[in-house]
Amino acid sequence: MSRKDNPMSEAAINLVLIEDDKEIRRFVQSALGASGFHVWPAENAERGLIEAATRQPELIILDLGLPDRDGLDVIRDLRAWTAMPILILSARGEETQKVAALDAGADDYLTKPFGVPELIARLRALLRRVVRIEDRGKSLIEFGDLRIDLAHRTVSRAGEVVHLTPIEYRMLTVLITHAGRVLTHRQLLKEVWGPSHVDRIHYLRVFMAGLRRKLEAEPARPQFLLTVSGIGYRLEI
Ligand code: CA
Repeated sequence: MSRKDNPMSEAAINLVLIEDDKEIRRFVQSALGASGFHVWPAENAERGLIEAATRQPELIILDLGLPDRDGLDVIRDLRAWTAMPILILSARGEETQKVAALDAGADDYLTKPFGVPELIARLRALLRRVVRIEDRGKSLIEFGDLRIDLAHRTVSRAGEVVHLTPIEYRMLTVLITHAGRVLTHRQLLKEVWGPSHVDRIHYLRVFMAGLRRKLEAEPARPQFLLTVSGIGYRLEI
């Protein structure tokens, strides 16, 4: 256990878990409890919304299939008053639902069954994103050997200037703004090209290939500009 994962070395991170399956609730609660998180469990949407409003959690884990309300409604309700990260739990093969959940404002998803390391990695990525949002005034973004100067609109890799087209640059800055979360094809198209272009997924493939060629050491095995199969893209930094 690293110092960072040791619950005694820092205050626990509060999160609300909305999940009707008792076994999953117990499993997540004990696994995360041992890794520096404090989990407030809720067995349905109604209870979950109350916990979310009263416990001041830093993050919400939400099962999409709840007995009393549709998970999508819960996301919309939460998004009416909070920007806190929402991680979706969903059953295998619910691609359409996942996309709808992300479009409704969820940040990321995990498909059941999932492992503890994967869950913790996702939570940490979302929490890092919160720190970055709070630090939004920052104009210099660095990851790997890349350096993006948002004030001067310049990008360099290992000290060499990288020339991006205006669309590539825009796509990169949209991904940076949402780093750590999954952007659906629709969301990315809307932000880069506008609402009338949300169906042109082939645009994304072309421009993503260009970005990877210029920014990734191995464009075929990207380290930062990740594909989320059938759903969209995620910038992992
Ligand atoms: Ca369920």
